Amino acid sequence: EAVLDLQGIEKTYNRGRAGEVQVLRGIDLTIARGEVVALVAPSGAGKSTLLHIAGLLDTADSGRVAIGGVETGTLSDARRTELRRREVGFIYQFHHLLPEFTALENIVLPQLANGIRRKAAEARARDLLSRVGVAHRADHRPAALSGGEQQRVAFCRALANAPKLLLADEPTGNLDPETSDQVFAALMELVRDTGLSALIATHNLALAARMDRTVRLDAGRVAPL
Ligand code: ADP
Ligand code: ADP
Repeated sequence: EAVLDLQGIEKTYNRGRAGEVQVLRGIDLTIARGEVVALVAPSGAGKSTLLHIAGLLDTADSGRVAIGGVETGTLSDARRTELRRREVGFIYQFHHLLPEFTALENIVLPQLANGIRRKAAEARARDLLSRVGVAHRADHRPAALSGGEQQRVAFCRALANAPKLLLADEPTGNLDPETSDQVFAALMELVRDTGLSALIATHNLALAARMDRTVRLDAGRVAPL
């Protein structure tokens, strides 16, 4: 069963105006349950645009997006938001953690917003933190953590509500190469342990090689590597 199914996705910015740019020209991409796919493309090729459309943060001009078998084209904005919150986790190059809250609270808050009780939310947050090796940092605010630790906490937050699909945009792109390797390994372990499906954009071909499959964005279409 496909966790993510994209068919014929097209996207043009500034259509018919100055600065028109046709970014996606018919993207077909299916991600099966438990499959981890690398998305490789040069900067400006449309990786962020594709991830935002796949995660229901942006809409395509045409084409289909289905998540967990749910066709999203006819959903109301409220239903789209609900589906995104329940089924999709996002990770960016920058952690985007809330600075005034501890690592633990950053993982607890999205669960409370999703109706989980505090006790259960804290237990899940601690379990996630220990899986990526930062349980001892639970009560620190983001500013007190290293870059690698901040990203590990951001991974936990993305998984807080047990999504089916993880979308990551250069998740270790801000880290030095050695830290990047370690943090990426922690992310892959977390993804494999939870059986998550993922689409992970990266420039790093060595990291891409550790995933199940690599797709390349070429002139607005998906091509094999
Ligand atoms: P990538 O993530 O691969 O670097 P993006 O999806 O961010 O690529 O951008 C693809 C192209 O679309 C770039 O040329 C970028 O400048 C352009 N673009 C992205 N977002 C917008 C926008 N909101 N308005 C106009 N152009 C955009
Ligand atoms: P990233 O590729 O890491 O997401 P970008 O700097 O490409 O970072 O994009 C940051 C934000 O700005 C995104 O939301 C993107 O859609 C938007 N954006 C990118 N390029 C343009 C552009 N040429 N015009 C308007 N918005 C843009």
